[in-house]
Amino acid sequence: MKSHTQYLWFNTKNRQEFINITLQVEEAVKKSCIKEGLCLVNAMHITSSVFINDDECGLHKDFGEWLEKLAPFGKDKYKHNLTGEDNADAHLKRTIMGREVVVAITKGKLDFGPWEQIFYAEFDGLRKKRVLVKIIGE
Ligand code: ZN
Repeated sequence: MKSHTQYLWFNTKNRQEFINITLQVEEAVKKSCIKEGLCLVNAMHITSSVFINDDECGLHKDFGEWLEKLAPFGKDKYKHNLTGEDNADAHLKRTIMGREVVVAITKGKLDFGPWEQIFYAEFDGLRKKRVLVKIIGE
């Protein structure tokens, strides 16, 4: 069995952003030379997510508005923020949108459904954060 490990770095200009990272993950698969296997992509921070969905900007605005209704930003709204932090909403949003995705690799390519794309979701940005890409197979 072969394996390949790679880290993607992000430093977003906004506190909250959705970034399509499909091309970067495809490049990692190419670099791995693995033809049949699995590709794990996970956020390494507890205030950001990796998820799979459609690359459609209206949908991304819908996600943003929906998350803001469920976990609105606000320093005085949460017990976690009594520690002096202001990012309780980002922890909650991360939990809703998920930590990681796993995609099958078939014939050297990510084996997606027709509209599937991989996104990094930042909920407490303006600083350097990492995503792990781990590929295993033959
Ligand atoms: Zn926190």
